Amino acid sequence: MGRRTWCCPRTPRTTTRRGDAVRRDHLKYALLRRVAGSSALRHLERVGWNPLRHPDHGSGRMGGMSEIDGMGTERATCVLAPNPSMMTLDGTNTWVIGEPGAGEVAVVDPGPKDPRHLERILARVGDRRVGVVLLTHRHPDHSEGAAKFARMAGDHVKVRALDPAHRLGDEGLAEGDVVTTGGLELRVLEIPGHTDDSVAFWLPADRAVFTGDTVLGYGTTVLDGRLGDYLTTLDRLRALAGEEDVATLLPGHGPKIDDPAGVLDTYIAHRRERLAQVEEAVRNGARTAREVVETVYADVDRKLWPAAEWSVQAQLDYLAERG
Ligand SMILES: [Zn+2]
Repeated sequence: MGRRTWCCPRTPRTTTRRGDAVRRDHLKYALLRRVAGSSALRHLERVGWNPLRHPDHGSGRMGGMSEIDGMGTERATCVLAPNPSMMTLDGTNTWVIGEPGAGEVAVVDPGPKDPRHLERILARVGDRRVGVVLLTHRHPDHSEGAAKFARMAGDHVKVRALDPAHRLGDEGLAEGDVVTTGGLELRVLEIPGHTDDSVAFWLPADRAVFTGDTVLGYGTTVLDGRLGDYLTTLDRLRALAGEEDVATLLPGHGPKIDDPAGVLDTYIAHRRERLAQVEEAVRNGARTAREVVETVYADVDRKLWPAAEWSVQAQLDYLAERG
């Protein structure tokens, strides 16, 4: 499998003949339905996004951004980045988190390096001070603007991430870390799977978990890491949801989730179901990812088969590891 960056495809800027553009848009639409599910499409249509129109042709914002922009909990508020796409859904959710009345906040995932967006985050911070910038994972739609935002917010501001390449300053993030700023307390959980450097932040005061791209507001996430890790991560988040009575998941894309246990159960069932289909295809003689796709995705447009092959390969790797 080649290296892929799942969360921030660049919108192609090259001009193509209109027929090509329309065909490509139809392909994107079909792929979105396959990857994110029809519930994702229903949501996007409800908020006014036309998947058949390029984001760079419109206003740069989707119609119903108010549903996501400004949402949150008592301590956390979302600032929606203007980078909607098939893989980033409505755009990246940046989170500003602070204790009520405190003079200092944390910012999770400053998002793309878009000056308008970084200014909007600062406006949301207001006259408070940014104590720390945190990253849920390395994908550019979350991390690209982090260092620039930190510098805009003040000389003292550091960026903490699990991946050393994305830090500003020498403090990282690791399982069990407790990040404190302005009286706020965030607990760090390492949750590999979407990427190998994914972390979640547990905010006990609001019974909320920042999930990055490990759990999205709708649809299912695409893996750039290992399926075995991802399944373990889902089980771990499900256990946390039960033990700590988690009230809300605050994802990297899409609306917040007010039924964490239910949504995690659905994620786990979806992954197990796909895995069972692949196992059955292998039992019936399929040997390669391509052969599995020809069976499991027989009803799907062949143009989507290469994308399906990536996820099937991850499943085959997982089955091989498990013996
Ligand atoms: Zn993302």
